[in-house]
Amino acid sequence: MNSRVALVTGGTGGIGTAICKKLADMGHKVATNYRNEEKARAWQERTKADGYDFTLVKGDVTSPEEAEAMVREVERTLGPVEILVNNAGITRDGTFHKMTAVQWGDVINTNLNSVFNVTRPVIEGMRERKWGRIIQISSINGLKGQYGQANYAAAKAGMHGFTISLARENAKLGITVNTVSPGYVATDMVMAVPEEVRAKIAADIPTGRLGKPEEIAYAVGFLVDEQAAWITGSNLDINGGHHMGW
Ligand code: NDP
Repeated sequence: MNSRVALVTGGTGGIGTAICKKLADMGHKVATNYRNEEKARAWQERTKADGYDFTLVKGDVTSPEEAEAMVREVERTLGPVEILVNNAGITRDGTFHKMTAVQWGDVINTNLNSVFNVTRPVIEGMRERKWGRIIQISSINGLKGQYGQANYAAAKAGMHGFTISLARENAKLGITVNTVSPGYVATDMVMAVPEEVRAKIAADIPTGRLGKPEEIAYAVGFLVDEQAAWITGSNLDINGGHHMGW
């Protein structure tokens, strides 16, 4: 199997860490970005203790300049980016009639504009080399909406339009572009929700439990595989049956 260079944004988070580990387990060389050096070094130590050697590059994905610098740094350190997982994300929940422009802007910038910022410096090289895997981590709530998440649902839904357009533009060049839409996964993002709300969410999920980060990473591993070359413009729902159908 080929060892590829992978960049996972937000790789130090709950789902991101599992994705980094999955790609490394598949034999790929994996880099991720950080904003806070101290936090990132602590993460690197923890993952080293688990037997992993990830490359860390500094960069805030909301800044086009920092995103490009981050990609160039990965290229210098590991080589051209062949696998890109746009995973960095945040929530700033609130019902829309009370939502501020800052809540709206932060979520759109981090979850959606970041996808432009990071993919743009990567795509030309993939087109020249005629191979690439690009995956956006969307959300169940980008498909079905959620109370208090007009900003987040709009950003995540935007990822799907981006994915199917980029997939069309690059389909003949060996580049696949897909989204993975997780349901509720037990990471800091979801553990910040009050326990009684989480219990209600779990009761609503046909499998009766929240997802594990590794279960999302498994889907990413599936889509980046060499044999997944004919899967493009797709969305993979990984949500324990919480949202089924179209
Ligand atoms: P976490 O909060 O655990 O991790 C988020 C990661 O994104 C962190 O590494 C964080 O870095 C990084 N990040 C945030 N903002 C920026 C920024 N401006 N620039 C660079 N990096 C940034 O979240 P999860 O692991 O739970 O979520 C990962 C993805 O999965 C997100 O896109 C989320 O929307 C999506 N998702 C999550 C679900 C869940 O149930 N957890 C469900 C559906 C989708 P830092 O440490 O610097 O903040």
